[in-house]
Amino acid sequence: MKAHSRLDRVSDSLLESIVQITGQRDRDSLELSLVKTLHELIASRRIVLHRIDYVQGKRHLLPQVHFEHDEYVLENLEFDEEDETSPLLDDFPDFLASLESRQMVKCRCLCDSEECSQFIYPIFGSADRVVGFLEIDSANHDGVNHKLVGGFLKIYHNYLMILDDSERDTLTGLLNRKTFDNNIAKITSAYRNADANGANPKGQLRRRQMHTDWSHWLAVIDIDFFKSVNDRFGHLYGDEVLLLLARIMEKTFRHNDRLFRFGGEEFVVVLEPASFDNAWSVLERFRKAVESYTFPQVGKVTVSAGFTHIRSDEIPATVVGHADEALYYAKHNGRNRVCSYEKLIEEGVLGGEHYTSEIELF
Ligand code: GH3
Ligand code: MG
Ligand code: MG
Repeated sequence: MKAHSRLDRVSDSLLESIVQITGQRDRDSLELSLVKTLHELIASRRIVLHRIDYVQGKRHLLPQVHFEHDEYVLENLEFDEEDETSPLLDDFPDFLASLESRQMVKCRCLCDSEECSQFIYPIFGSADRVVGFLEIDSANHDGVNHKLVGGFLKIYHNYLMILDDSERDTLTGLLNRKTFDNNIAKITSAYRNADANGANPKGQLRRRQMHTDWSHWLAVIDIDFFKSVNDRFGHLYGDEVLLLLARIMEKTFRHNDRLFRFGGEEFVVVLEPASFDNAWSVLERFRKAVESYTFPQVGKVTVSAGFTHIRSDEIPATVVGHADEALYYAKHNGRNRVCSYEKLIEEGVLGGEHYTSEIELF
């Protein structure tokens, strides 16, 4: 009878944990919930959930949620003061070993100058790629129930895939409009916090993103004369053009650039922090890649784009409005071109009358 009630308690707490994890609606809360749950169920000194981040072709280890000393922290930690960047994955052989073997790796580490066992579990994302790691440091080598951790990581993976699906557009697989609204709000508010605090706001912006001449850039891209593609070849071929265009976007832009189908034949790209020249040249590269591609049956298609930098004092609708003004200018001045809002203002071509209307959808 006693054993039965203990079993009841354990299964109650496991059920409660699963309910809590699957009750989350965004990635950050899901990660936090996973780390919290594991901490409650496992004897651990420290639990960290890391994501693998790609910066200029190099893999970095980016802590997302961190539990230590009875405290949870939801931020990017452990910046290298010298390099002003997060640590390179290549400098952590045990994490590399877990990535390569796709299995849990055991090693030793120091926790508050005491020797601990460290367990590194790979975290799988879509297409079974390793997208991060769960690190558990425990003073008690046998205190970690690997079956339990493995089970929770599987629940986390399955749920992450459902969240991922809900963030994407079904035709192109790019991020959808709803995700754009959430993302852009986070980026603009991070810039506002950075301005207000003069510091890294909860790690949402990395130090290298704080350079004054570097910022995120937002581009609105619209297919030229797309109506005529539909009229001449039908909607199915039109849809194929959208799909192939999305593939060209994925090939052209960098790993950390965020690509959205904004609606219909309009796309939005949020470029990772870059200089004006970099932003300009990556958009030009995309424009040229589309221009030189031959779409099955349809043949040649071109795109126009307007872009602007993301500033701390602007709400998302204003940022999109500025990029849209530049796009509008490109459309009325030859199409198949990329225009910068700031350059057009500088040249006195746009009046700088800031409007905040949402961009036209269909
Ligand atoms: P412009 O160069 O000025 O952008 O000309 P346009 O013909 O591309 O402009 P407009 O925005 O007026 O037309 C967009 C067309 O895109 C209208 C609509 O039929 C088509 N469209 C929107 N969404 C989809 C879609 O999901 N699939 C297909 N096949 N066509 C779509
Ligand atoms: Mg349009
Ligand atoms: Mg169009």
